[in-house]
Amino acid sequence: MDVCPDIVSIRAFVSAARGSGNPVVLVPTMGALHDGHRACVEAGRAVDGGRLVVSIFVNPTQFGAGEDLDQYPRPLERDLELCRAWGCAAVFTPSAAEMYPAPQRTWVTVEELSVPLCGRSRPGHFRGVTTVVAKLFHIVGPDEAVFGQKDAQQALVIREMVRQLDMPVELRLAPIERDPDGLALSSRNAYLDASQRRRAAGIYRSLCGAREKIRGGERDPNAVVTAVAEELARGGIDDVEYAELLAADDLSPLGHVEGKVILAVAARVGTTRLIDNMVLNVTAAGATEEPVLF
Ligand code: AMP
Repeated sequence: MDVCPDIVSIRAFVSAARGSGNPVVLVPTMGALHDGHRACVEAGRAVDGGRLVVSIFVNPTQFGAGEDLDQYPRPLERDLELCRAWGCAAVFTPSAAEMYPAPQRTWVTVEELSVPLCGRSRPGHFRGVTTVVAKLFHIVGPDEAVFGQKDAQQALVIREMVRQLDMPVELRLAPIERDPDGLALSSRNAYLDASQRRRAAGIYRSLCGAREKIRGGERDPNAVVTAVAEELARGGIDDVEYAELLAADDLSPLGHVEGKVILAVAARVGTTRLIDNMVLNVTAAGATEEPVLF
C-alpha cells in the first residue's frame, strides 16, 4: 500500500493506476477509522478492477469555532494498518498547509441543501465539506467516490455539487454501520463514557419507534417527529438539536408522510454531538426501510 503524504505523490500513484487501466475509487475520511469506514471501502470494492484510495484529512474548514477540531482523534499508524488490512491500494494523508494555501479565498458552496438540519446548527460546515471534497476530487481525480449514508445531508450536498459542476465522478453510498445496540458508528463515539454510551443507543431506538408508527398508519409528520422526541426524552436524551422528517431527495418539508422520506436526528449526549437517520419508502402498502438514499 502506498502512503502518499502530499499532492505530488498521490497524483503519481493515480497516474500509474490509470496507466495500467485500473479505475480509481476514492473514500474520503477524517481518519480514526472504524467499521463504518470499512463499509465505505467495501462498497468501493464493487468497482471492477478498482484501486481503492482512502484519504485521511481532518478538514479544519468544516469545523466551527468551539467545535472539536483540536481534540479530534488522529491515530494515524492504526488507521494505516486498517487500510492495509482492508486491501486499500493507497492512502492520501495531506497536510492542512498544503490543502489550504493561505489565505483561503476560494470556496465551493451548494445553496439550499446546505441550509436545513446540520447546516442550521453548524454554519459554514457544508461549505468546508464541499470545498475539501471538490479539492480531493481535483487532486485525486477518482472515477468513483464512496460516502456513507450516516452523513445523509452531506451525500445530497455532494451529489448536487457533482451534478452542477459537471465533475466526472460516480458516487456510491454505503449503508450505516451500527453497533449491536443500534448506535451508528462514529469516530466521535470515542468521546462517550459508559453511561453516555448506553444512553446514546436511544437515538436509533427513536428512529425505529418512528418507523413503526409510520408502519402503523401514521401519516402526519408532526406526530411522527413528536414520537421521536418523546422516545429520546424517555432514553434520557434531552439536548436534541433537531428531529425532522423531510423529503429524501431535496430535504423539503412534508405536509403528509409519503414517498421517499428521511427521518434525521442530531442530539448531544453529554457534550458529544451525534447524528443518525433512517430512509423510508412510504406507500399505501406500508413503509419499507431503504439502506441508502441513492
Ligand atoms: P468521517 O471520517 O466521519 O468524515 O467519515 C468518512 C466517511 O465515512 C463519510 O462518508 C461518512 O458518511 C462515512 N461513515 C462514517 N460513519 C459511518 C457509518 N457508521 N456507517 C457508514 N458510513 C459511515
